[in-house]
Amino acid sequence: MKIICVGRNYREHAQEMQSDIPEAPIFFIKPDSCLLRNNQPFFYPKFTSELHYELEVVLRVNRLGRSIGQKFAHRYYDAVTLGIDFTARDLQRMCKQKGLPWEMAKAFDHSAPIGLFIPKEELGDLGSLDFRLEINGKLVQQGNTHDMIFSYDELIAYVSRFVTFRTGDLLFTGTPVGVGPVKIGDRLQAYLGDRLMLDFFVR
Ligand code: MG
Repeated sequence: MKIICVGRNYREHAQEMQSDIPEAPIFFIKPDSCLLRNNQPFFYPKFTSELHYELEVVLRVNRLGRSIGQKFAHRYYDAVTLGIDFTARDLQRMCKQKGLPWEMAKAFDHSAPIGLFIPKEELGDLGSLDFRLEINGKLVQQGNTHDMIFSYDELIAYVSRFVTFRTGDLLFTGTPVGVGPVKIGDRLQAYLGDRLMLDFFVR
């Protein structure tokens, strides 16, 4: 399986990164070696000194599809969770400056912790989900999916023009404003509405 991640899908996050608001979705891919499950600890990598969290709503793809029409896109995902798109911000900045690919900053081992999936029927309106991240009990990031620039279905339709979705693939739908650093010893807890979805330590 693969993890497709959308960049700059929230206006205020694009602004905090001093990036333009995209006219079409921006995406990149993390390999399956990025996954971290079951609230296992995340080990701070030696190659960065500026590791940032990006809390994101994650969709689980449940069927094969390519060039999916937007009006059919909702049939291609069946469950939702929260995930963190860990980013080595110092490396990403260097890659951007040199025009290099982002993989070393985004696609490293265990850079995608995810929670358990909730069937989408249980969540009601997926277009207005509140989600938030606390570090050591303090609120650091908060978003609502109605602020996404591109909807889930626009993202699926667009990405599938280029990349085939397979059952089990994941779509990280972008992070809201408020990204920031983590350090060794931090406890990260992420909530979807009032459900605790992630609860793990940085070691
Ligand atoms: Mg992200």
